[in-house]
Amino acid sequence: MTKLNLVLMGLPGAGKGTQAQRIVEDFKIQHISTGDIFREAMKNETKMGVEAKGFIDKGELVPDSVTNGIVEDRLSMDDVNDGYMLDGFPRNLDQAKALDEMTGRLNKPVTAVINIHVDPEVLIARLSGRFICKNCGATYHKLYNRPKVEGTCDVCGHHEFYQREDDKPETVKNRIAVNTKLNTPLIDYYEDKHLLYNINGDQDIDDVYSEIQKVLKAL
Ligand code: ADP
Ligand code: AMP
Repeated sequence: MTKLNLVLMGLPGAGKGTQAQRIVEDFKIQHISTGDIFREAMKNETKMGVEAKGFIDKGELVPDSVTNGIVEDRLSMDDVNDGYMLDGFPRNLDQAKALDEMTGRLNKPVTAVINIHVDPEVLIARLSGRFICKNCGATYHKLYNRPKVEGTCDVCGHHEFYQREDDKPETVKNRIAVNTKLNTPLIDYYEDKHLLYNINGDQDIDDVYSEIQKVLKAL
């Protein structure tokens, strides 16, 4: 089996975090979510976190000069030698090219790109119902994906949840617009490299995962 050095693509709300939780557990690879890294930095009010917040709260992208460095630092660590899954990076062509360069330098090239496709109209409902475990970051939905035991996180057993600031309807619309514009060239870029696998994300969470599993097992 090819080493799983993966990129998980999809518009905000497509289900990247939800599927990532399952993939990393089953395939024993490291999950690298740039959004999670920024949220942790914002929570801790680090210099980078304070800078990122100005962009994130408006639904804009954090500048590449900040984001690329964070990813390279993370990919340089030894715990990703046996595989990684990038979630939310790259988000534009310059980031994709920077990723090629850094993974070349580190000898950890991307081996497949999973693109979860969902029509934009569906995404607004998804994001407005999303809530997240305060302790471990596991993602739920008030209608489509409730914890098995009401009020208790399936993953870590904690009881406190929060809604993301940037899941407010006004910010959601801008996030979807910004990412839709950037997504198409990125899809073409990975298609040309024969790395792209398209997944239908507009079906039950378990069915989306079955499609992804099939692709990963065949690699
Ligand atoms: P992303 O990481 O791509 O932004 P998430 O994984 O956080 O997306 O999913 C967004 C919201 O939609 C969450 O509330 C999640 O529980 C819910 N969700 C994820 N996948 C599905 C699906 N296939 N059907 C319905 N709801 C979903
Ligand atoms: P996410 O959790 O992936 O939805 O990301 C939340 C927010 O973090 C995004 O709306 C961006 O503001 C920022 N962000 C995450 N990943 C990136 C990236 N690769 N490039 C720029 N900004 C990012």
